[in-house]
Amino acid sequence: MDIFEKCRRFTRAKEAIEAGIYPYFRPLSGNDGPRVFMEGREIIMIGSNNYLGLTHDPRVIEAAIAATKQYGTSCSGSRFLNGTLDLHHQLENKIAQFMNREAALIFSTGYMANLGGIATLVGKDEYIILDKSDHASIYAGTRAAIGAQIKRFVHNDMESLERVLSQLEPETPKLIVCDGVFSMEGDIVRLAEILPLAQKYNAQIYIDEAHGVGVLGEHGRGACEYLGLEEHVEIVMSTFSKSLASIGGFVAGPQYVIDYIKHHASPLIFSASPTPAATAAVLKSIEIIETEPEHMQRLHHISDKMRYEFKRLGFDIGHSKDTPIIPLYIRNDDLTFLFWKRLFEEGVYSNAVISPAVAPDQALIRTSFMSTHTDEDLDKVLEIAAKVGKELGIIQ
Ligand code: PMP
Repeated sequence: MDIFEKCRRFTRAKEAIEAGIYPYFRPLSGNDGPRVFMEGREIIMIGSNNYLGLTHDPRVIEAAIAATKQYGTSCSGSRFLNGTLDLHHQLENKIAQFMNREAALIFSTGYMANLGGIATLVGKDEYIILDKSDHASIYAGTRAAIGAQIKRFVHNDMESLERVLSQLEPETPKLIVCDGVFSMEGDIVRLAEILPLAQKYNAQIYIDEAHGVGVLGEHGRGACEYLGLEEHVEIVMSTFSKSLASIGGFVAGPQYVIDYIKHHASPLIFSASPTPAATAAVLKSIEIIETEPEHMQRLHHISDKMRYEFKRLGFDIGHSKDTPIIPLYIRNDDLTFLFWKRLFEEGVYSNAVISPAVAPDQALIRTSFMSTHTDEDLDKVLEIAAKVGKELGIIQ
């Protein structure tokens, strides 16, 4: 027995590869957004978070190239020391203005923003309250909050949340952390019901807008704007790796809170800052979102159409609503892999989500759409999903 024994015993991935149904780590050799090249074939991508298709907008690409020429390929250090550019400050000011918040702080990934933001805010013996379906990076931030007391409630279940809150020490500080749009389920946080509970039990609210920014709300600020409740949420975070066509993330909120996170968050202080190209790409993407609402409008049109059509075909799409994330619940790990494989063989790339990422009876194919999908792409996807769904007995 040695430290690697667990690695030798890990055979689940190998077995799936041998059975030809392993869906993960498949390389793309080309990508124009809605179409990708994999294993020598052109495939329709319905598994990307590139919701507005901006990764291939020539203006975003040009901005990234220009920043690389001006500043180089890396910042070679952390924000805290040599790695802060005037471009980072420009982006933080832009995000604060765009999100209608006093201040913003950027990190090199969204995962790091949650890790640093949450671990910094919640101190020893203080409470952190999570929706069970919150993103893994929120869980990572929670685990890194040393000595914090962690409580969880059933996904989007307000009775469960109140049960949890009512059992906590009333005077102890509490932070409720939820995804604004849940990344697998495609449903939206029940903020209107969380707010009175937060008030009643003395808790502040932190919302992860990773799948909301550029997607929901009149200005694309996310679920809080869509619900008309922004001013009641103290802290929001988001990522650059979805609608904003780059990599990185931010937390935004009151200046004094952001200043505190800035001087205490380990992932910010001890890790290199976002590259010039990544930073400039976000700046350009926000400018496009602010001036060209047609991309968000097209995304909503597509999402509504696909939700309607999947449902009409007989797929179980759960509670997905008003977002481009539409889960097709299969509720069985093996059948989910098989459905994924058949979709892929027919020319569609989706995401297979099985246990332990979700409970085995929640296994699903996560589909997500972008404003650059053509009507032809979408019709093809529906035709293939119907054919394969019937073949495997998932739909009638
Ligand atoms: N929060 C949510 C809800 C996410 O879905 C993700 C990424 N999938 C993240 C945070 C982390 O973002 P990033 O990819 O920028 O690390």
